[in-house]
Amino acid sequence: MQSAIKVENLHKTYAPNGGNKGTHALRGLDLDIKKGEFFALLGPNGSGKTTFINILAGPTLKSKGKVEILGSDIDTHRVKTKFLLGVVPQEISFDSFFTVNEILELQSGYYGIRNNGKHIDEILSKLGLKEKKFTNSRALSGGMKRRLLIAKALIHKPEVLILDEPTAGVDVELRRSMWKYMKQLNEEGLTILLTTHYLEEAEQLCSRTAIIHNGKLVALDKTSELTKEKTLEDVFVELTYESDTGSGTTTDTKPISPNKRANG
Ligand code: ADP
Ligand code: MG
Repeated sequence: MQSAIKVENLHKTYAPNGGNKGTHALRGLDLDIKKGEFFALLGPNGSGKTTFINILAGPTLKSKGKVEILGSDIDTHRVKTKFLLGVVPQEISFDSFFTVNEILELQSGYYGIRNNGKHIDEILSKLGLKEKKFTNSRALSGGMKRRLLIAKALIHKPEVLILDEPTAGVDVELRRSMWKYMKQLNEEGLTILLTTHYLEEAEQLCSRTAIIHNGKLVALDKTSELTKEKTLEDVFVELTYESDTGSGTTTDTKPISPNKRANG
């Protein structure tokens, strides 16, 4: 099966002066997410999830390693791979002078798409934002803003959608409606990479789950396999718990039951 996102030996060090001292946020990550998958990337705060996503999407430069999006290397096909990805960022930020429609038209413009009105309407009605089309973005509720971020990410019809904690701080009802929508998108063929702190979300939606900790993969398996003997929460806590939370610690010496080891 074709790979949608393939990374090999990915490293990122945030070094203040360009040296090699600094935060080693990713430490040799290998992942192969297949086309059509709904894939969960879990990990505690600071484990490197957003760094990983920002390397895929562009704003962060990797220190070492190889990244391919649908077979195209991001180093040699930067523009092409940007078009293949839609990214819902962790932080909400809109220009508060614009309406929902203006934001989506501007976003279309970034991708060189004119007359995107029909697609904009489709997305807005699917996301339950149709009535807000001409509303100023600052007048939207938190949940609506989250949905607008998804609409923005889908504006150029990407093949891979990456969601960085899309349901953080979203109420239960809206979270469930977002799940339904993400599920539908995946069933229509979109590959989805989801990071979340709601483990239930990964269990309900994602066929495979990876857990990272201190920038390293500590588990990778079918979600149903990971949750065979224990809840995902128990697995997660077991693999990521640190009595000493000082930076630079690794899980290398920690006993991990063999069937929970990363097998990717
Ligand atoms: P997560 O999304 O899993 O919470 P991040 O990727 O945001 O993790 O962070 C991973 C590590 O990299 C953390 O130690 C964080 O402090 C550090 N980090 C993230 N962004 C930067 C940055 N721009 N400059 C320096 N360090 C950063
Ligand atoms: Mg993050």
